[in-house]
Amino acid sequence: MINKTTEWFPCPVCLKPLDVRMTKRKKPYVICSPCGVQMFIRERAGIEAFGELVEQGLKADVLTRIDQLEQRYKLTCPDCATPFWANPELAGTNWLNGKVTGYRCPERNCQGFVPMGERSGTPTDPSPKQEVSKSGKDR
Ligand SMILES: [Zn+2]
Ligand SMILES: [Zn+2]
Repeated sequence: MINKTTEWFPCPVCLKPLDVRMTKRKKPYVICSPCGVQMFIRERAGIEAFGELVEQGLKADVLTRIDQLEQRYKLTCPDCATPFWANPELAGTNWLNGKVTGYRCPERNCQGFVPMGERSGTPTDPSPKQEVSKSGKDR
């Protein structure tokens, strides 16, 4: 979960919240190891703008976005209950059609597998909004 008191910034590629770290010279940077993204902010104007973005992130807007992302991509292993992110590296694909069938638990010694069919909104679902509006009208 996101700790709201910790400064973080979403990865520009996968939007995963990353801890904001400081270099020895007090320049902020974030690192996303799965993506190999390293973002350093070296100039003062950038650092100020970045600081504002981080502050906004600590408030509502970005959190909502991340929440939505979490609902779609954050999975829980059915075996060991470890929460993990749907990562292409963990994807199990169907041999015949190359479709992603689910995601493997990243824990060692765990054979847990989260099939994408069991989730109402899969990452590949092109029209998640329709579902929402339908169920809203019915009730
Ligand atoms: Zn990333
Ligand atoms: Zn597991």
